[in-house]
Amino acid sequence: MQRRPGFPAKLPVSGNAAMGKPVVPPASAAQRKPAVAAAPAGVGLDSSAVRARMVQKLAAGGITSAPVLQAMGAVERHRFVDSALVNQAYEDTSLPIGLGQTISKPSVVARMCELLLGAESARHGGLGRVLEIGTGCGYQAAVLSLLAREVYTLERLRGLHDKARDNLRPFRLANVHLLFGDGMLGYAKGAPYAAIIAAAGGDAVPLAWCDQLAVGGRLVAPMALSGGQQMLLVIDKTPHGLKQNVLEPVHFVPLKSGIA
Ligand code: SAH
Repeated sequence: MQRRPGFPAKLPVSGNAAMGKPVVPPASAAQRKPAVAAAPAGVGLDSSAVRARMVQKLAAGGITSAPVLQAMGAVERHRFVDSALVNQAYEDTSLPIGLGQTISKPSVVARMCELLLGAESARHGGLGRVLEIGTGCGYQAAVLSLLAREVYTLERLRGLHDKARDNLRPFRLANVHLLFGDGMLGYAKGAPYAAIIAAAGGDAVPLAWCDQLAVGGRLVAPMALSGGQQMLLVIDKTPHGLKQNVLEPVHFVPLKSGIA
């Protein structure tokens, strides 16, 4: 296999407790690309051990996909939060990332990734191109980079787009494409997508997302139902049309239009 320049698989991964050691049997894409940063952050955290505990809890909570557990065990979540919050980085909680936004809970990230891998198109040769709406701090994009061939991720707030770029730089993930723009419009240039995942919830699925989804592709997004309750929604694009499933209640920041 030909390696691309800057591929994280080239990075040294042994001998440093802050680097991500595999905590479950490696699988597929996650095996090829350990998402460890190029330089230690110096937080004095034995992050691989706390991440392993987080992964055990995710498995106990019902996450069964080996590639998802592997990816969650590999990505150093503490590098995506403010230094004051580092000791909470592996708790199952959302945390502030600035500008009124939050990094999603690990259990929610894992759940949504597992749902994406359930897409019809992912059953034959893995997940292809994925579009993420709401880059935030870039954490979920890093997880997705281990599960999909290409990740296009859109953020509408310039400050967070820049922050995600800074956060992701040391990971050198050649398959993550950070885009600044209004995710309500999707990103037509990368379409069609094997999967679309939204990290912010509106009260309707923008038409552009359905248009940009490949046949066999799957969209996973929080959506407010008529009563106002936000629920996790899965839409599969089949050769016969769109099939929608409403899953459990969730709590995401609002999907907003325009850029700022
Ligand atoms: N996946 C992120 C979660 C960030 S929270 C992470 O791992 O950190 C959701 C993000 O969606 C916020 O940063 C918010 O600014 C962004 N967002 C909301 N509406 C958006 C839109 N229309 N287009 C792009 N991003 C949007």
